Amino acid sequence: MKKKAVPAGRPLGQLGEFGLIEEIRKLVFTDSKTVLLGIGDDAAVLKPSGKKRLLFTTDMLIEDEHFRLKEATPFEIGWKALAVNLSDIAAMAGAPTHAVISMGLPKKLRFGFVRELYRGMETLARRFKVNLVGGDTNRSEKLVLSVALLGEADAKDYVTRSGAEPGDVIFVSGFLGGSYASKKHLHFMPRIEEARFLTRHFKIHAMIDLSDGLSSDICRIAEASRVGAFLAKGSIPLSKFARDVNAAMNDGEDFELLFTLSPKEAARLTLYPFGKKGTSFHPIGRIVEKKYGVRLVDKSGKSAPLAGKGFDHFLRKRVSG
Ligand code: ADP
Ligand code: MG
Repeated sequence: MKKKAVPAGRPLGQLGEFGLIEEIRKLVFTDSKTVLLGIGDDAAVLKPSGKKRLLFTTDMLIEDEHFRLKEATPFEIGWKALAVNLSDIAAMAGAPTHAVISMGLPKKLRFGFVRELYRGMETLARRFKVNLVGGDTNRSEKLVLSVALLGEADAKDYVTRSGAEPGDVIFVSGFLGGSYASKKHLHFMPRIEEARFLTRHFKIHAMIDLSDGLSSDICRIAEASRVGAFLAKGSIPLSKFARDVNAAMNDGEDFELLFTLSPKEAARLTLYPFGKKGTSFHPIGRIVEKKYGVRLVDKSGKSAPLAGKGFDHFLRKRVSG
């Protein structure tokens, strides 16, 4: 006889940890080619594929630090928890493969909430063929979601922050700014396919995903590559939710790709749009020698230094609302 589905309204306090894990197991998809053992044992057992390099990343979302329960649905929170990790794998131009999810859940939550969290994650997971193979479930005062994500790339295909060279053209994907106002930070599509398109057709020298904001993330490439950078203020592609260029460069959570390539490759890229998805790539500046620093240049030729402080969770907070 088939067991009845657990009602969405059942409190976790009644369902229990093991009851919840059993329900989670039913919600996730795993592919039997690489997953020999998924949820249910002490550890997942995976079969690595050939000679690829493994990429491994983790990112955590905490209630009131990264989202507010009043302003985000559980589907959106689940989506974002996996999406921020996918964005890091995209920045390396990798293909995501397997994930584990650790959760801290308030006892008062109902099963339906967790089911929606998993629906958000699983929707993205299926889109990018990610296997959810395990996790950990705990009680906590605030909602905490931590995802660890494995990915892979050919030995010569992954892209780091450290390969930018003087003369390179700097590009950014999509449009920047206003991510909180537009709720893009909860809905964004990680640039996995765009990054793989770029590395398949072009020699990308350096790449990073924009999490803190263009003004600090360009400094991270410059620092890692030991170069300087000039950004053209008038070329920064603004989202219609951005207040102005300065805001767009500091709002953060754009989750777009920032990358550099030689002028010859750059010229080719401008004639070679990322067709079916329509994500645009915009040239926004040049890599220069380190001694020139990292500067924002306006159309009269005046320039100002960009500070590469980055977002610091211990110094200031950035929460929507
Ligand atoms: P252990 O006590 O041995 O660490 P757990 O009881 O924490 O095991 O977990 C049992 C199984 O359920 C493991 O396979 C674990 O990966 C999986 N699991 C636990 N919590 C989650 C979760 N939130 N999402 C997915 N899998 C989970
Ligand atoms: Mg164990």
